[in-house]
Amino acid sequence: MEAVDTAPVGAATCRVCGAEFTPYLNGRSEIRDTCKPCMLAKRSASIRAAHARKAALAAGIDKSESEAPATSITIDLGQWPDLAHELTRLAMEDLRTPEMQATWLLIHALRAAR
Ligand SMILES: [Zn+2]
Repeated sequence: MEAVDTAPVGAATCRVCGAEFTPYLNGRSEIRDTCKPCMLAKRSASIRAAHARKAALAAGIDKSESEAPATSITIDLGQWPDLAHELTRLAMEDLRTPEMQATWLLIHALRAAR
C-alpha cells in the first residue's frame, strides 16, 4: 500500500529571486510563485515598514521626513576641487566609485582615531 502524497509536487520558480523551489503550503493555499526565504523576507520587510509607519505617526513625524535614510550623506567638494580630483583618482586606481573610496577612507580615519 502506498501513502498518498498530498503535499504539492513539482518544482516552481520564485518570481523574486528566480530560484527553483518546491511549492509549499501557507495555511491552506499552495505557494508556487515565491520561495520561502523571499516570502519571509517580504513579510518581515512589510512588518518593519508597518512598525516604522506606526512609530512615525505616533511621534507625529511627517511621512516624507521619516522615509529619508539617516545614513545617507552628501558631501559637496565644490570648494575643494583638488580633493575631489584626488579622491576620484584614488577611486579609479582601486576600481571603486568615489563614494566607496570616501567611505573606505572614512572607515580607516575613524578607526585610527579610536
Ligand atoms: Zn526567492
